[in-house]
Amino acid sequence: MILAVTMNPSVDISYPLSHLKLNDVNRIKSVQKTAGGKGLNVARVIKQMGEDVITTGVLGGTTGEFICQELIKMNIKNEFLKINQESRNCIAILHENMQTEILEAGPTLGFEESDAFLEKFRRLLGKVSSVTISGSLPSGLPTDFYFQMLKISKSEDIPVIIDTSGEALRQVLIHEAKPLAIKPNISELSQLLGVEVGSDVKSLKLALDHELFKGIEWIVVSMGSDGAFVRHGGDYYQVMIPKINVVNPVGSGDATVAGLACALKRNQPIETVMKTAMTTGMLNTMESSTGSINRLKFEEYYCLVKLEKI
Ligand code: ADP
Repeated sequence: MILAVTMNPSVDISYPLSHLKLNDVNRIKSVQKTAGGKGLNVARVIKQMGEDVITTGVLGGTTGEFICQELIKMNIKNEFLKINQESRNCIAILHENMQTEILEAGPTLGFEESDAFLEKFRRLLGKVSSVTISGSLPSGLPTDFYFQMLKISKSEDIPVIIDTSGEALRQVLIHEAKPLAIKPNISELSQLLGVEVGSDVKSLKLALDHELFKGIEWIVVSMGSDGAFVRHGGDYYQVMIPKINVVNPVGSGDATVAGLACALKRNQPIETVMKTAMTTGMLNTMESSTGSINRLKFEEYYCLVKLEKI
């Protein structure tokens, strides 16, 4: 079983409009509401890949209840810490080929909630063989909160894949308890290192040689339609993918993390791990719903992923 963590899940609401009228009434005919948050995308794809998954994090209120119900509909186990604040809504208005987003910050957590969650997390580790942690931290939690989770996982000998950015990622990397894998994209990598990292092999290799990445077994730098650049131990790989028909690329990074988690959990060879992660990422772009793949297309696209050791 894999534990997929989303600390600040949301109800994602999409409002399609032919024209957005400012300072006026906009009436919406069809609304789509889904359980959102990067870790929930990861969980859905893990489930679609045929692995058992438990979702956790912090939620509350009627929005929190909606998220749980959506997960139950998909047969995904949920073990969230329930709090007395409402989980957030994230609204996307789709108009005139543009997307205007209104994102609530979500609950602010205090010491009590933080301790209660870490205790819950420790207990859940007894049921799983690996963990994925995705997305940003809710306000109120210290920036080293993921490091605190890593320390607990390390003490239980459970490997962790982390997909976050900014200070939360830096805090994970500067401490001694290391994640098994991280999956930055190029802009997250650039932000972390404070330099513009290019997509050529030389720049990527130089970036991943940075001291911050010492001791991390897997670094998967995802590069959208350009596939990925991977460092495994001391080896570098360029992972090339075919040109595909993209329907909705949102959540591809999360699907990549899901593929990575499944292959690592199955103890598959390193080539298989990289190819699986790329395939789930690609398959996500081919579906209209975010964080979803068609498992029936897996073999066909898996065979088209090519690796080159640098
Ligand atoms: P993130 O969403 O974290 O920025 P990426 O955009 O790099 O992640 O996408 C993750 C993976 O999904 C890529 O490595 C690739 O396998 C697949 N992918 C994303 N966008 C495309 C695309 N336009 N064409 C083909 N594959 C894509």
